[in-house]
Amino acid sequence: MDCIFCKISEGKASANFVFQNDDIFAIRDVHPIAPTHILIIPRKHIPSLMELDGAEGSALISKIVSTAVEVAKKVSLSDSGFRLVWNVRSDGGQTVGHIHLHLLGGRQMKWPPG
Ligand code: AMP
Repeated sequence: MDCIFCKISEGKASANFVFQNDDIFAIRDVHPIAPTHILIIPRKHIPSLMELDGAEGSALISKIVSTAVEVAKKVSLSDSGFRLVWNVRSDGGQTVGHIHLHLLGGRQMKWPPG
């Protein structure tokens, strides 16, 4: 399967890691749109949030979000704040078909998003 996030997970492509464990890893986005732009990614290949289901899916979502919060603390975004973004499929702007959560910080975020 030609998935860049699977390749990074397996050590077959390089990335700037911020965190990793057996289930999840976090890397710096290669095209950052904020001073801090980190992707929280499960090692398991799941194309989008729409393919997650059941208790296993809920548990994975919980782990991804709690990892994002821990990473936000680690990169000193606790006080200033941050934004978590999940792009889903085409209209959501998803470009990589492997679930990932964006952690954005280091500047004032705008609303509504583009
Ligand atoms: P999305 O558009 O929500 O699917 O987000 C995919 C993100 O992955 C984009 O922000 C890309 O810049 C980022 N990205 C793609 N390839 C890599 C890579 N090799 N290393 C780090 N980030 C990447």
